[in-house]
Amino acid sequence: MRVPIYVLNMRGQPLMPTTQKKGKKLLREGKAKVVKRCPFTIQLTYATGEARQPIKLGVDIGYTNIGFSATTKRLEVISGTLTLRKDISKKIDERRRYRRTRRGRLWYRKPRFFNRKKDEGWIAHSTHHRLASHLSLVKKLKSLLPITFKRIEVSNLDTQKMQNPEITGMEYQQGELQGYEVKEYLLEKWGRTCAYCGRSGVPLEVEHIIPSSRGGTDRVSNLTISCRACNVKKGDQTAEEFGYPVIQQQAKQPLKAAACLNNIRWRIVEQLGAEHTYGYITKYQRNKLDLEKSHVNDAFVISSGTNQERCRPYQVIQVKRRNRSLQLNRKGFKPSIRRQRYHLQPHDLVKFDGSTYKVKGVHCYGTRVILKNVKGQDKSVVITKVELVKYGKGLLFNLC
Ligand SMILES: [Zn+2]
Repeated sequence: MRVPIYVLNMRGQPLMPTTQKKGKKLLREGKAKVVKRCPFTIQLTYATGEARQPIKLGVDIGYTNIGFSATTKRLEVISGTLTLRKDISKKIDERRRYRRTRRGRLWYRKPRFFNRKKDEGWIAHSTHHRLASHLSLVKKLKSLLPITFKRIEVSNLDTQKMQNPEITGMEYQQGELQGYEVKEYLLEKWGRTCAYCGRSGVPLEVEHIIPSSRGGTDRVSNLTISCRACNVKKGDQTAEEFGYPVIQQQAKQPLKAAACLNNIRWRIVEQLGAEHTYGYITKYQRNKLDLEKSHVNDAFVISSGTNQERCRPYQVIQVKRRNRSLQLNRKGFKPSIRRQRYHLQPHDLVKFDGSTYKVKGVHCYGTRVILKNVKGQDKSVVITKVELVKYGKGLLFNLC
């Protein structure tokens, strides 16, 4: 598939991307220099006319994966999936434990009680990470492409109902669309499988855990997803009588992912100054174009993609910078902490024996480094024999 090359002007601002052939020609003639390897970006060394066409960016926001795709009238110019970090709350817990131990030693200090207030607009760290990732991804893309228009899919579901979906009953909903949205919520909550037999890929229906004939409500906490066969077999029984007591408890827990995204989706739209759209519109368009469901395809549709020529998607991961420093040195700079510990860290790029490798880690007290080998076994070499090409930090792009 096509891989566009991103072009910056002399001042470092993005221009329209170009083809590999043209990019190579520019580099050969010395009219450009390489500034980034992935996504491959070049910077022109001469002043040019700066004709730009409108570029529309579509972002499919998510709890674990963010899809993005940018299109012009004719071409898709970038696309991919960003996988978010999962270790945030674990790390915060770890920090809390360390802090607890450390402060336990300050027994002589007067107890403090009135410094436990959370700031206005405080959100959980894991949620904050998701918000910040959406923003920094778009910032990164804007540094590569002159994006003129942004559109974001806020949700599958009606936002008013999403405010507190667990207490908003089905009975308050009118019209087919709203009913469909509750179903969409339930599908998401129950992982698109039958809650009783676990089958997926069959038509699923909304099912009452305690049947309405026995006084069951239409609240989401009383609804689940089941296949036709199980629904008929269950008949007039409650889930407990049917032999599934856990389902009743599961239904009472709100969808964690939905709650997290609820907190941030409008902040993302607001802070990016983007337009918003809904999941059911995306789904409709995607089915019309006969595309399979994926984050990239969703983003492509959100960016109002139709018959544009697609490009090869990127897989983006986030790597901790491991370089936080709270103090400035005497010259007013932040000293790099990285250099003091193990010089090389996972995801760094190094040169060994004439070829480039990704670092998997170090061992033997940092005297040897393990190089990732795409084909075959990883190898361990003496750290003095490798040469650093680039630190792996922040958003790392890889071609799929
Ligand atoms: Zn079933």
